[in-house]
Amino acid sequence: MIDNRLDDEHEALRKTVEDFARHEVAPVIAEFYERGEFPYEIVAGMGRMGLFGLPFPESYGGMGGDYFALCLALEELARVDSSVAITVEAGVSLGAMPLYRFGSPAQQQRWLPALCAGKHLGAFGLTEPGGGSDAGAVATTARLDGDEWVINGTKAFITNAGTDITSLVTVAAVTGTKPGGGKEISAIIVPAGTPGFTVSKKYSKVGWSASDTRELSFADCRVPVENLLGERGRGYAQFLSILDEGRVAIAALATGLAQGCIDECVRYAREREAFGHKIGEYQAIQFKIADMEMRAHTARLAWRDAASRLVHGDEFKKEAALAKLYSSEIAVTNAREATQIHGGYGFMNEYPVARMWRDSKILEIGEGTSEVQRMLIARELGLVG
Ligand SMILES: Cc1cc2nc3c(=O)[nH]c(=O)nc-3n(C[C@H](O)[C@H](O)[C@H](O)COP(=O)(O)OP(=O)(O)OC[C@H]3O[C@@H](n4cnc5c(N)ncnc54)[C@H](O)[C@@H]3O)c2cc1C
Repeated sequence: MIDNRLDDEHEALRKTVEDFARHEVAPVIAEFYERGEFPYEIVAGMGRMGLFGLPFPESYGGMGGDYFALCLALEELARVDSSVAITVEAGVSLGAMPLYRFGSPAQQQRWLPALCAGKHLGAFGLTEPGGGSDAGAVATTARLDGDEWVINGTKAFITNAGTDITSLVTVAAVTGTKPGGGKEISAIIVPAGTPGFTVSKKYSKVGWSASDTRELSFADCRVPVENLLGERGRGYAQFLSILDEGRVAIAALATGLAQGCIDECVRYAREREAFGHKIGEYQAIQFKIADMEMRAHTARLAWRDAASRLVHGDEFKKEAALAKLYSSEIAVTNAREATQIHGGYGFMNEYPVARMWRDSKILEIGEGTSEVQRMLIARELGLVG
C-alpha cells in the first residue's frame, strides 16, 4: 500500500522552509526581481538553514537528508519565488551533486563543505551557444598539455556561474576521440577566477530575474590535470545522470509555482469584488481555481513518486521525465489562469502572479525541454528512431 503522507522529519523541514519563504523571501524579493539583482542576504539565510547541504552527508557539512528533502524545500521556496528556488536547485543538484557523485575524496574535501554551507555556489556548464538539447554536440575542448588541461570554448545560459560567491563551474569538454570514432567527453572542474575563464555580464531574462545566468568563455584556460571530475571519457554519462536527478528537482519547483498561483488566487478571489460580489463567488472563477488545484496536486504526486524511487535506488528515469514534463506544463497553465483571475492587476509586476507568469515558461525549457522529455518517455517505452 502507498502512504503519501510525509514523515515528521520531512514535514518539519517543509514547514520551516514554508515559514522562511513567507517571512524572509516574500516581503523583499520583488525589489530584487525588478532590479535584476542577486539576493545575497536571502542566499546566506538559506545557507544558514542548511538548504544547500540538504542531501549531503554531515561529514561534508551537509544535513544528512535526502533528495526528497531537497525537493520538498524547492517546492516551498517556489510557492513564493522561483529565482530563489532555482538558485538552490542549481547550487545543489547541478553545482555540488557532480562533486559528491563523481569527485575524488580530495575534490570533495576541497569543494563540498563551502558549497553545502551555501557560502559558495557551484555551476554546471553543459549547454553551449550551438545547442543544449543535443548534449553530445559539445564543442568545447580540453587538451592535455603536460600536467594541465587547456580548455577552449563557450558555454551558454549557465546558472549561478557569475555571483560573488561562485567558486567553480564543472565543464563538459571534448577530451579526445573514442576508439569507435565518437567524441570522448569529460567533466572538468574550473575554479572561478582561473586565467582564461571569462564570465559575461548577466543575460536580460524574461523571468528568474533575481537569479544569476551567464555566458562563459574559455580561452587557453589552464587547470591542473587532477581537476578531471570522475573518469576520463565518462563526462557525457555523468552529465546525463545529473540531469535525470535534476528533473525531479525542477518538477518539485514547478509544482511549487503552480501551488503559489493557487495561494495567490484564493486570497485575491476572496477580496476582489465585481458586479457586487466577491469574484470567488462566481463559479467560473471557482472552477478555474479548482482545476489549478487538481493540476498542482497531481504534479506533487508525480514528483514525490519520482523522488521516492530515486532515494530508494529504484529506476526513476521515466518517472522523472513524466514529472518534469507534467509539472512544467501545468505550471505555465496555472500561471496563465492566475494572471487572468487577477485581471489587470495580474499584468502588474507588483503582483506575485505576474512574476510567476514570467517565471513559468523557462520550466518547459531548462534541464531538458518538453520535447526532450517526450523523447525520453517514448524511449523508455521502447520506441526508438
Ligand atoms: C535561465 C536558464 C538557465 C539555464 N541554466 C543552465 C545551466 O545551469 N547549465 C546548463 O548547462 N544549461 C543551462 N540552461 C540551458 C538549458 O538547459 C537549454 O536552454 C535547454 O536544454 C535547451 O537547449 P537550447 O536552448 O540550446 O535549445 P535547442 O536544443 O536549440 O532546442 C530548440 C528547440 O528545438 C527542440 N528540439 C531540439 N531537438 C529536438 C528533437 N530531436 N526533436 C524535437 N524537438 C527538438 C527543442 O525542444 C526546442 O524547442 C539554462 C537555460 C536557461 C534559459
